[in-house]
Amino acid sequence: MKHLHCKVFGHDLRVSKNITFHVKEYTCKNCGKEYTTSGSGNLTELTPKYKDINRVLENIHYRRQLKYQKLHPELLVFRH
Ligand SMILES: [Zn+2]
Repeated sequence: MKHLHCKVFGHDLRVSKNITFHVKEYTCKNCGKEYTTSGSGNLTELTPKYKDINRVLENIHYRRQLKYQKLHPELLVFRH
């Protein structure tokens, strides 16, 4: 019945991972289906292809944060 709940009421998505400021991965609390933010800003199913893209984005984002911290050592907290 869990999947029926999603069909009727929609998925109950929770953020499972922040990739960048704009891209996040979501998991449905009911059926466990995974979604992510696509390039156009809409939600799309988290396919292996999107997982790969997100890992790359995450890496770039992380390095940018490190660089940013080096340039601004007074700002010790990572922005989210
Ligand atoms: Zn669901």
